[in-house]
Amino acid sequence: MENQTTMSESTQKTKVCASCGRELPLEMFPGHRLSADGHMAECRDCRRRRKAKNDNDGNPLEKFTARELMHELNARGYKGDITFTEVIVHKMNLKDF
Ligand SMILES: [Zn+2]
Repeated sequence: MENQTTMSESTQKTKVCASCGRELPLEMFPGHRLSADGHMAECRDCRRRRKAKNDNDGNPLEKFTARELMHELNARGYKGDITFTEVIVHKMNLKDF
């Protein structure tokens, strides 16, 4: 805790990014209604960087929400493979935090 210097002049709330570890103003964190403080754990920069990377990877499933994915799978006739669906839903929830 060496960087806990006298920065108390600033009343701006900050948060440490879970991804890059930088301390940034709360406004740098996208809103997330399910998290404790109402913001994502990851800053905009990291989020954008990861999204760009995902676009390059070309994984079309990244664009689906869990609900849309289930609907899509059902529409394509994936009725028997429930386990596969659950794995994807779990991964996507983790990414949101
Ligand atoms: Zn970050």
